[in-house]
Amino acid sequence: MTAPQKTSYDVVIVGGAMMGSSTAWFLTENPDFDGSVLVIEKDPTYEFASTTHTNSCMRQQFSTEINVRISQFAADFVKNFRAYMGGDERVPELSIQSYGYMYLADTDAFADTLRENIKVQHAAGAGTVLMTPDQIKQAYPFYNVDDIKLGSINTVDEGYWDGITVFDWWRKSSKERGVEYHTGEVVAMTRNAAGTRVESVTLASGAVIACGQVVNASGPRAVETARMVGIDIPVEPRKRFTWIFSAEQPLDRDLPLTIDPSGVHVRQDGKTTYLAGGHSDYDPAVAYDDFTMDHALWQDHIWPVIATRIPQFETIKVINEWVGHYAYNTFDHNAIVGPHTHVENFIFLNGFSGHGLQQSPAMGRATAEWLTHGAFKTLDLTPFRYDRIVREETFVEKAVI
Ligand SMILES: Cc1cc2nc3c(=O)[nH]c(=O)nc-3n(C[C@H](O)[C@H](O)[C@H](O)COP(=O)(O)OP(=O)(O)OC[C@H]3O[C@@H](n4cnc5c(N)ncnc54)[C@H](O)[C@@H]3O)c2cc1C
Repeated sequence: MTAPQKTSYDVVIVGGAMMGSSTAWFLTENPDFDGSVLVIEKDPTYEFASTTHTNSCMRQQFSTEINVRISQFAADFVKNFRAYMGGDERVPELSIQSYGYMYLADTDAFADTLRENIKVQHAAGAGTVLMTPDQIKQAYPFYNVDDIKLGSINTVDEGYWDGITVFDWWRKSSKERGVEYHTGEVVAMTRNAAGTRVESVTLASGAVIACGQVVNASGPRAVETARMVGIDIPVEPRKRFTWIFSAEQPLDRDLPLTIDPSGVHVRQDGKTTYLAGGHSDYDPAVAYDDFTMDHALWQDHIWPVIATRIPQFETIKVINEWVGHYAYNTFDHNAIVGPHTHVENFIFLNGFSGHGLQQSPAMGRATAEWLTHGAFKTLDLTPFRYDRIVREETFVEKAVI
């Protein structure tokens, strides 16, 4: 295995998937940044990364205004992808399949939560609407709404987008602009005598690389990376299951990403195929290499829920399935972004709890701003900073799928 080209870099990014690559690319975009960037990725096939297991959807139905605005930037970025990438004609134009997320409430308490959330979303300019069961049935006759009290949906910039193409182009463009991607595993970090700065990272190969700043973009392994500098963060790898199925009787219109009150979600995938996702009630932290499928979960829980909600899905056939890991923030289900309180050049980019793909444009841009200016310039991501964990003040995102 070759060593990185240099022994010292201004910015070292640990993890070269969606978040690491977004940060690298936005650094190359920032006119005030002229430093050197090394992205260290242990697995260039990304076989176990969250990024390659994603369901690749975006929504504006969050309970915190900043999360709505973060997704609005994602929507703008995706819809103007080529322009953002400098008008490069090799870059494809992208769009969002805006069939919306349909949240279904079967209790008064959850209906009230939807009513509360919509105020936050409207204040940020989102197009969410509440629907009575009758209205839902009229617009989407295939749902069984017998137990439903209220629904909420937004069909503006909410639905599927092609995250992997964005990821591929961030990597390609970053490399073309001088970012170095190195295949290797960071196994240790050295701090200065005062313990206030990371001075170098050590790779499994034994290579020691000096760094001006270091970014923890290691996804579900965020804790492992943080512990290299003696820091604990409340992020766990949690299993999330995905199934693709075809239906004997496909629906006559696009299926919104439907969040059943049970937590199971299902959406349109291909023309006549659908994607379902969920997890078991027992939802512990798992080993980093545990990607075992739970077949009973589909048979005993997910499929019965789907067939009850959409009786037309009584006869369906699973054609693909996979297991991925969320980097789940157990403290408040929100991202942890920006510097550590004492190790000042250790920058977090962690804990996205299942909504990180859509947050990658805003989070990468903000992290590049922090690395360049020591401040967030466009969107103020201060609420996501690590110091809230020290203060034990949660910044809760209630709308987690
Ligand atoms: C099933 C599933 C469905 C999802 N659906 C959605 C969705 O619909 N919408 C949405 O917005 N988000 C979704 N997400 C979440 C989203 O995919 C993630 O938040 C996002 O991909 C996180 O990217 P990341 O770069 O932080 O982490 P990852 O993609 O996990 O990348 C981390 C990288 O760091 C590398 N690494 C780790 N440790 C080291 C080390 N010591 N040295 C070198 N390299 C290291 C790893 O090899 C890996 O490539 C979903 C996630 C899953 C699992």
